[in-house]
Amino acid sequence: MPGPADNRGMALMITDECINCDVCEPECPNDAIYMGVAIYEIDPRKCTECVGHFDEPQCVQVCPVACIPTNPEHVESRETLWQKFERLTAAKAAQAEQAQQGPQSAAAKPG
Ligand code: SF4
Ligand code: SF4
Repeated sequence: MPGPADNRGMALMITDECINCDVCEPECPNDAIYMGVAIYEIDPRKCTECVGHFDEPQCVQVCPVACIPTNPEHVESRETLWQKFERLTAAKAAQAEQAQQGPQSAAAKPG
């Protein structure tokens, strides 16, 4: 059984070594990467370290300058990362359902 030390995970962050090469953004399964003021940034509320999707963080795999370390301000347990993944997946599913129903369902709802 893994101990607490093995259980640690955390969101990742992009440092100012980023060269804005654009390759990481489309690889993120959680849409956590976005263009910030000067360089790309990672929304820690959406980054699960790719838990739930891949064994390895996809952005780290593709970054040519290795500028995506873990974010020490967002230390989370693997369990929390899983919960985040589940929450994001549920939100995505709800969004997709809403998009499928389209304006009809909005019109059907009073108020
Ligand atoms: Fe997105 Fe995964 Fe990178 Fe987090 S680790 S920013 S979820 S690609
Ligand atoms: Fe920046 Fe690395 Fe993403 Fe390229 S892959 S945009 S260098 S963080």
